[in-house]
Amino acid sequence: MKYREQIEAWIEAHRAEMLEDIKTLCRIDSSKGKAVPAAPDAPESGMPFGEGPYKALKAAEKMIAGYGLKTTNYDNYVLTADLNDGAHELDILAHLDVVPGQEGWTVTEAFEPKVVEEEGRMYGRGTSDDKGPAVAAIYAMRAVKELGIPVTKNARLILGTDEESGSGCIAHYYKVEKEAPMTFSPDGEYPVANIEKGRLPGKFSMSWAKQRAGARILKVSGGKVANAVPPRAVAVLAGISQMVVDVLAAEISKVTGVRFETVRGGGNMVSDKDAGTDTLLTVTAIGRNAHASTPKEGINALTALLSLLAELPVEETNAGYTGHEAGAAHAVRSLCWLMPHGETDGASLGIKTDDEECGPLTLAFTQLELDQTGMKGLFDCRYPSALAPSDLVKICRQKMEKEGMRFDSEGMTVPHKVPADTVLVKELSRIYEEYTGLPGGCIAMGGSTYVHDLENGVAFGACLPGTDTRMHAPDEFVVIEELVVSAKMFAQAIADLCE
Ligand SMILES: [Zn+2]
Repeated sequence: MKYREQIEAWIEAHRAEMLEDIKTLCRIDSSKGKAVPAAPDAPESGMPFGEGPYKALKAAEKMIAGYGLKTTNYDNYVLTADLNDGAHELDILAHLDVVPGQEGWTVTEAFEPKVVEEEGRMYGRGTSDDKGPAVAAIYAMRAVKELGIPVTKNARLILGTDEESGSGCIAHYYKVEKEAPMTFSPDGEYPVANIEKGRLPGKFSMSWAKQRAGARILKVSGGKVANAVPPRAVAVLAGISQMVVDVLAAEISKVTGVRFETVRGGGNMVSDKDAGTDTLLTVTAIGRNAHASTPKEGINALTALLSLLAELPVEETNAGYTGHEAGAAHAVRSLCWLMPHGETDGASLGIKTDDEECGPLTLAFTQLELDQTGMKGLFDCRYPSALAPSDLVKICRQKMEKEGMRFDSEGMTVPHKVPADTVLVKELSRIYEEYTGLPGGCIAMGGSTYVHDLENGVAFGACLPGTDTRMHAPDEFVVIEELVVSAKMFAQAIADLCE
């Protein structure tokens, strides 16, 4: 492979400097904040995704300009860096925003990146998703430039600042710029992810008349974000004995692995007026967080809590309120039946699908807010191309409506696929095999990246198979050796594809 030796030597010589640059960006809490509109006379003063993402973009701008690469700032939505003035051939898409820091870090604080030499890792929010890979791409550009590798076409690094909250950044960029003939994004997995499943955010809701007395469910709340398995869920009950709940909780805990805590009172979740003269009980379920595209890796606290609530001695009907059959208890039992705890393939909803190329359909029940007069909930379904989107929606709607719920599929995306025999896929796979000694080839992902809507875009890295870097969770880390080899592979990809 041409230039491989020079590229390897250059990246090795700049390893320490690269790690410092990653730390610089990871010290910035670039989770989404409140948008600051631009002043009328100063368009560059806007912070479309808040102060954090803006600061990260400005820090990257300074860093990249310092290395002599030409930068362009797209209204503080996106920053780009161009290798040369040649024809636009290759785009590399990475992002500078992060999910919130969260609690529960043990190795270091979320925004105090730390290298642990014995483990060969750097810990910190964004080290793996996606500032580490973004900086590896900056160093790949530097390597090609500083080594003077002859490239006639341009490679452009595109750094977004809103990937975690809807990718509004990249939508802004593609409003004014065209897609390059080839694009890869180091925001997925190795080897080459040429397929991304479609996503259905299934919203459902229901309303009912208030039940004023008797054993009843006053409140259920679980899931802070739409695309994660909820690690925590809470319910407030009235008129039910704590002993009954504790006995059931112990049983369900054994089967599900979810821990339950029961305390007297309604906290601040229910008003005294709503409680009446009944004793209140708050039940908290604690499971384990996971990305919604890999629901098997988590333990869903919400579905476990619902299985507990479904077993309680509460009346299904609102006695005394004719015309309103359904209530909280009915809704809870329906949800348990449609999306039972531990089931992640959509079988009970009737949408289970296997697909050799894309992998199976996955479903995670991610959010629910239920009170005394109704509920709103959401599931996150990642579906393969074997299932027609219209059929998927039809089946879900029928099942939900049969239980008296309304259903909405707004925000649905179709699966993404780049053929495995394109130059881009074949070249990246060959480079990967050469540098890592591992088998290349294509994989399908349940998660979607920046390339989801591009014609010829794939995800490429930056985690090697078998490495779980705890993205979106406390103690996120990156394996330093994996980043170093990534920087080398990106440089080789630029050298070969922009030749
Ligand atoms: Zn990411």
